[in-house]
Amino acid sequence: MSKNIDWSNLGFAYMETENRFVSNYKDGAWDEGEITTDSTVTISECAGVLQYAQTCFEGLKAYTTEDGRVVCFRPDLNAQRMIDSCKRLEMPTFPEDRFVDAVVKTVQANIDYVPPYGSGATLYIRPYMFGTNPVIGVKPADEYQFRIFVTPVGPYFKGGAKPITIRVSDFDRAAPHGTGHIKAGLNYAMSLHAIVDAHEQGYSENMYLDPATRTKVEETGGANFIFITKDGKFVTPKSDSILPSITL
Ligand SMILES: *Cc1c(COP(=O)(O)O)cnc(C)c1O
Repeated sequence: MSKNIDWSNLGFAYMETENRFVSNYKDGAWDEGEITTDSTVTISECAGVLQYAQTCFEGLKAYTTEDGRVVCFRPDLNAQRMIDSCKRLEMPTFPEDRFVDAVVKTVQANIDYVPPYGSGATLYIRPYMFGTNPVIGVKPADEYQFRIFVTPVGPYFKGGAKPITIRVSDFDRAAPHGTGHIKAGLNYAMSLHAIVDAHEQGYSENMYLDPATRTKVEETGGANFIFITKDGKFVTPKSDSILPSITL
């Protein structure tokens, strides 16, 4: 039975659902993982993620189709992108087949939260990983947790598919040869000041320029750009400091 939720008026916010997937990495291996109802995480006060931000994440959605099936868009590519993020952050990788299987299990375990076709809402799926054991000298953790939770969401920007105003940011989102190409939590921590300031000035988002020369468009704080030229060509920026899109 679908939950009694006002699907058409959902914002982009966290709503706790019944089930999530959790797997732990210890002594060089991932355990089997399981679906659990526990929405809390208990870790050491000195956990690697808390001291040195060793964490990365993914984001994808489940949709109800017109004929009532529930589908995801290219979850294998999210798995691969997370593998790339983990390698750059010296974290263990969660294998692609196990990632896709865990996404399917988590959606199935929360099937009543998948918004109906035509509501404009979707089920947002958030896989993530973080270092859990105590780390005080700067080095990678030895133990990690991989989790997936889901939450029903409306459009990311208020007002849905309406034009938004953005501004060219005075801040950079990524350093040349840095971590702009991976979905690391640290990239978003350092974008918070710029987004709060953008909102205060009446803009929905920041347009970030290439960090080396600040002459080319890269992306926004949370999404890539697509440009259509006057003569109808589809153009996307190419740069080593852009987060590679799965949508495009
Ligand atoms: C996640 C993300 C993207 C890509 O989004 P997709 O939904 O995978 O296409 C682009 N830019 C930034 C900064 C992101 O965080």
